Amino acid sequence: MDFDLTPPTEEMEKFRQEVRTWLEENIAEEMKESLDADEFTEEKYWYWREKHKELARKGWLNPTYPKEYGGGGLTGAHEAVIVQEMRRARACPNLSNRRPPETIMVWGTEEQKQKFLAPLLTAQMTCWQKLTEPSSGSDLASYQSTAVRDGDDWVLNGSNVFISGRGPGPAGGPDYLFGPMLTDPQAPRHRNLGYFAIPVRGPGVEIRSMNLIVGRDSHFVFLNDVRVPGDHLIGGDHQGWQVLSTQLEQEHGGDGGGGQALAPDQSVENLITYARQTKINGRSLGSDPLVEQSTEEAYIDSHIDKLFSKRAYWIHESGSQLAHEGGLSHLSDKVCGIRNANRVRDVMGPYGLLGIKDHLAPHGGTQEIQLRRAIALSHLAGSLNIAKVVLARRMGISRTQERAAPMRTSGAKAAH
Ligand SMILES: Cc1cc2nc3c(=O)[nH]c(=O)nc-3n(C[C@H](O)[C@H](O)[C@H](O)COP(=O)(O)OP(=O)(O)OC[C@H]3O[C@@H](n4cnc5c(N)ncnc54)[C@H](O)[C@@H]3O)c2cc1C
Repeated sequence: MDFDLTPPTEEMEKFRQEVRTWLEENIAEEMKESLDADEFTEEKYWYWREKHKELARKGWLNPTYPKEYGGGGLTGAHEAVIVQEMRRARACPNLSNRRPPETIMVWGTEEQKQKFLAPLLTAQMTCWQKLTEPSSGSDLASYQSTAVRDGDDWVLNGSNVFISGRGPGPAGGPDYLFGPMLTDPQAPRHRNLGYFAIPVRGPGVEIRSMNLIVGRDSHFVFLNDVRVPGDHLIGGDHQGWQVLSTQLEQEHGGDGGGGQALAPDQSVENLITYARQTKINGRSLGSDPLVEQSTEEAYIDSHIDKLFSKRAYWIHESGSQLAHEGGLSHLSDKVCGIRNANRVRDVMGPYGLLGIKDHLAPHGGTQEIQLRRAIALSHLAGSLNIAKVVLARRMGISRTQERAAPMRTSGAKAAH
């Protein structure tokens, strides 16, 4: 069965060739992505910050955003080609978290779009999303980090955990953090937050590495009397939850993973190659009925999962109304990731646990990294349980029902 949603039309093949050639000619071999993301050096970080500006000028860094804000003005099919070719060339993906730009696009004023969105889309600036606090992860509405008005400014205090992003070392970070802050402790839940753009390079912001099983791209963030001007509040003083809903819509699968699902699942491809090429007593490992079954199930699951993501992606890109499709794709990603990691472990046995430094590790040790990632990814962007709650609300089988938040493509105007 052909799962490719980008049929090789003449125009698309020409575009693919253009992207492939450019990437081959313009990326230094020693700056390409390593198997282990932890091998991302400071030199690579600054190289890619510059390279992303070049990619943005070509319209390939944020392909489907409008040109007027620094996007590519291209279609989802173009984005599919770009994602696939970037993976093939081992190019470093966008260093900015993709969610704040979508949120600014929906909720920002024109001035804020010029000030924050355009520099993010053109890679002049980078951002991470700052949501999770030590005591409010799943229940973000119980946020405790505060923003207090002082004249025209706001003064921010609080702390966060698990903030993902690549930086130039443990003490480094992006240019901006985007996320909610408690603006009115007296107001009821969902009416007590503001959503802020927080510059990282000024006084009062501290970022520290968080050492997780998944790698070193997680961070603690501490805000101590951080002063930001009034125009860094996006949406109204009490509208932060509504603004955040656009970001959470993406977290919960509403943008189909932002195009990443348009590339093949390398881990499953590796599993199939392993089952075919590994010989036991002169026969391929894949001829064992149990291995054959595990490998086939991994293949089928991964393609069904990709189809869910692609469906949500195309609904998002076409500006249609999402119902449960994003939630289903989000839940499937988590479940499928864990299941397939277990299958890899079952088929490869102890070899699947060998790391990148071990010469016996299949596929250079990628499986060991993938096994660690699958567990962490089931918790990221809301845990497995929360993904089930969100899906139930969208399907109308929960006590609380929920509609999709406005997205940049849905044409829904944010209520200012
Ligand atoms: C690899 C990784 C990257 C991350 N990146 C970011 C990032 O870039 N930015 C950011 O802000 N955050 C990030 N996070 C944080 C992530 O969003 C949170 O970990 C997640 O939302 C869960 O919050 P928590 O860890 O506080 O768990 P808790 O909310 O404390 O939940 C603990 C457990 O209780 C369950 N639970 C809680 N409430 C309910 C309920 N109502 N019904 C049923 N079960 C419930 C949960 O499912 C979970 O199993 C990342 C996390 C990981 C692991």
